[in-house]
Amino acid sequence: EEREYVCHGCGVLIQTEDPGKLGYVPESALTREEVLCQRCFRIRHYGDIGTVAQDPDLYLKKLSEIADTNSLVVQIVDLFDFAGSWIPGIHRHIGNNPLLLLANKIDLFPRSVKWGRLREWLMEAAQGLGVTPVDVVLCSAAKGINMDKAVQAIEKHRQGRDVYIVGTTNAGKSTFINRLLRDLGGEEKDVITTSPYPGTTLDAIRIPLDDGKAIVDTPGIVRKDRISEWMSPNDLKVIVPSSTIHPKVYQLNDRQTLFLGGLARLDFVSGPRQPFVCYVSNRLYVHRTKLDHAQVFQEKHHGELLVPPDKPETLPPWTKHVIHLSGKEKEDVVITGLGWISCGKEKALLHVWAPEGIRVVTRPAMI
Ligand code: GDP
Repeated sequence: EEREYVCHGCGVLIQTEDPGKLGYVPESALTREEVLCQRCFRIRHYGDIGTVAQDPDLYLKKLSEIADTNSLVVQIVDLFDFAGSWIPGIHRHIGNNPLLLLANKIDLFPRSVKWGRLREWLMEAAQGLGVTPVDVVLCSAAKGINMDKAVQAIEKHRQGRDVYIVGTTNAGKSTFINRLLRDLGGEEKDVITTSPYPGTTLDAIRIPLDDGKAIVDTPGIVRKDRISEWMSPNDLKVIVPSSTIHPKVYQLNDRQTLFLGGLARLDFVSGPRQPFVCYVSNRLYVHRTKLDHAQVFQEKHHGELLVPPDKPETLPPWTKHVIHLSGKEKEDVVITGLGWISCGKEKALLHVWAPEGIRVVTRPAMI
């Protein structure tokens, strides 16, 4: 006989099929009196918020419930993958509520980067995406950089309201909240509790604050247009940076090509000699060659010298993106999930190849 269970913590419908999705419990746990989903179980017993993913369309619909609240929305983005970690259309979903932008993983950026300028860049980028944040805080949840600034900004801007924490998967939302819980929890482990959140189906978790308000953790939304979604765990170890990026600088003449492992390729078709600076994981092999040899070279070495991926056939075939650099300002070519190449301030024609479905875009230089 089939029975439907709901989580005693957050009220989500229980399922036993997919540990990566909301409401998961192992089959054996269904015999307990109070069934807790894996996420609530981990919070209650280990004070640890895990990452759960949700169907993007459903998620966005649910996100709109925030519009009906009176709250501060905290969006966590990944500095290494700004475009890929932005929640599409967030400004439409949060109504008139203020948005505080937490730009996470600052530890990956070279020390020479000017933080003031980077914050301005983020402010402008957010405005370009339809929202003016009340503040932008650069931080590293994993390394504990600027966490005090983040907490102060939340306290300052929430003005007695609930706080909704939103972000795409992998932006570092759980790392951030776990650190917050540790800081808030202090000696009293009891502060970390979960309870059903009445009147909502956002499948959110409420972490009570002193004043009766709460921090509300929402599930992460998955974006499929970043390369990292397609990679095996082993390949991910190569492309996801884990320490400060050492930019790789190439002075290129026209008709030269850069391969980013076996994942993307930039052809400098025409334009004056200029620098191309690769901001990718230090472990990713970048190969320079002549454009005229590139195709033959690729066919010979794909999955071999040009890795990851070990098996190129596991990724969609490459498509060509034609990019004209205006020469008016410095621009980045972003390969979503893989990193970006900062180009010189010269007019140029580029062909960028990447697996179909992976977003390739240009933007004003971030650094
Ligand atoms: P969530 O899906 O948004 O909850 O993201 P997680 O908190 O699970 O983090 C995703 C990945 O990013 C994990 O591998 C984390 O270790 C890593 N991460 C989180 N915060 C930081 C940070 O400040 N710096 C760096 N370099 N990595 C981070």
